[in-house]
Amino acid sequence: MQTNGLLISDILEYTVRHNPDSKITSRDNDGSIRQFSYSELYQRVLKLASALDQLGVALGDRIATIAWNNHRHLELYYAISGLGAVTHTINPRLFHEQISYIVNHAEDKMIFVDESFVDIVRELQSSFTSKPTIVLMTERPTSAEQALEGALYYEDLIEGATPLNGWPSFDDQAAAALCYTSGTTGNPKGALYSHSSTILHAMNACRPDIFDFDKSSVILPVVPMFHVSAWGTPYAALMCGAHLVLPGSALDGQSLSELAKRCEVDCMLGVPSIWFSLLAFLKSNDTTLPSLKKVVVGGSAAPESMISEFEDIHDVRVIHAWGMTELSPLGTINTASITHTHLEKAALLQLQKKQGRASFGIKLKIVNADNEELPQDGNAVGRLLVKGPWVIERYYKADESALTEDGWFDTGDVASIDELGYMTIVDREKDVVKSGGEWISSIELENIAVGHDGVKEAAVIAAHHEKWDERPLLIAVKHSMATISKDELIGYFDGKVAKWWIPDDVIFVDALPYNATGKILKRDLRLSYEDHYLK
Ligand code: ADP
Repeated sequence: MQTNGLLISDILEYTVRHNPDSKITSRDNDGSIRQFSYSELYQRVLKLASALDQLGVALGDRIATIAWNNHRHLELYYAISGLGAVTHTINPRLFHEQISYIVNHAEDKMIFVDESFVDIVRELQSSFTSKPTIVLMTERPTSAEQALEGALYYEDLIEGATPLNGWPSFDDQAAAALCYTSGTTGNPKGALYSHSSTILHAMNACRPDIFDFDKSSVILPVVPMFHVSAWGTPYAALMCGAHLVLPGSALDGQSLSELAKRCEVDCMLGVPSIWFSLLAFLKSNDTTLPSLKKVVVGGSAAPESMISEFEDIHDVRVIHAWGMTELSPLGTINTASITHTHLEKAALLQLQKKQGRASFGIKLKIVNADNEELPQDGNAVGRLLVKGPWVIERYYKADESALTEDGWFDTGDVASIDELGYMTIVDREKDVVKSGGEWISSIELENIAVGHDGVKEAAVIAAHHEKWDERPLLIAVKHSMATISKDELIGYFDGKVAKWWIPDDVIFVDALPYNATGKILKRDLRLSYEDHYLK
């Protein structure tokens, strides 16, 4: 067989040849909406790539982006990786010192920055040791305050370029993209994805058992292109010739709902906090999204109440997925197997709460404290280890492998796996509540709490306890008009979990702290409340 591997440029070449009229819709920061056919987008990508080439961008160079999901960001994904350079997406929600750290660690040669994030670059520019060229992802500005000294302008680059005449060819194991973890402890760590891993991941994402994309799909990734490549959708959608809808900076319920209606979106992807606000908007406006068929939820657990609200009120299928930066990110996905065909609705809902089966290519196992493999019987709970061609072998520039001696990556999650391979995340290893030597899942308690009408958001932490070592403490945000009391909320857990799992107390707060990838910052909550039961 031929051994020439596939490159990111092959996705573009193939899809423009076969789907020249497929569409990209992109919302700008000012709310205006632009639409491009794949052929129009391709012409812009060729010009951008040629401009990068002229600027001296070479194989392996890291070219950073700090941008929302929009057409320019998409063009960069293809132009940079197509040339053999590395698309280094930077999450603007990281702490500024972390952004400095990763620009310096990656030795970025250029940084493309969306106008919304210019202030970040303005503030940090002097700390960037690789002295990257800055490109503002706009037209040339008309006013002085919008300008950034020494910066280039994206539309100037495109306007002045002649289209690239053919993509370079190189090894498919070459690096294509780089994404750093949010690094809640220590410095962020880079996951460097290859062309081969990215393409395998994207081909897999399109499959009917995973996201089920094809040329008739209209896909709106709310999940950001600045973190884990928006779950691979910029590659997978184009591979299939789907209509890709990029929402820009407006991610509130109303803006998403308007865009989804206008483009007749049938699939949206994002983290639970996005769906809370979209569902709240739809409810308070007594409206729905008629074209929407499925929502992919990942990043944090999808609560039962969210799954049933989507399904019962909006007739939208919720597909629960699990993954992480180190896995490109897709690990598991919850689509029903043939064994589940005749499941009653209630049983199906219980199934959907699980994070799902490993996608083809990924292997999972759970182990105990002695690294012995545990049975996949739905009961045994242990550390979750993974293997696969889109899982990292080591962090970017690390001297040592990130794998165990026998080649598995330890996810830091604690999980069970049932007989059919459906995995349930019990907790992050560091968040599980160890009460009297037994484990309590903070995730399961949070999911129950947000099922109460009066609760908007909930977090459960392990608080120190004299007798039991740790006991669960519930920290909750009420809906604006809700009058729910502590006792009522504690009573709401009766019959839903074992008695000893029920949180001993509730603290109501105005807001919960979130990290750069939209996860509740439990470390901060622990610092504030972990001695609550000792007082
Ligand atoms: P970071 O970028 O902060 O390192 P990731 O975005 O890679 O984090 O998140 C990975 C972690 O998110 C997983 O290890 C897991 O704990 C959590 N996670 C992802 N998806 C789910 C899910 N569906 N249910 C529960 N937890 C999830």
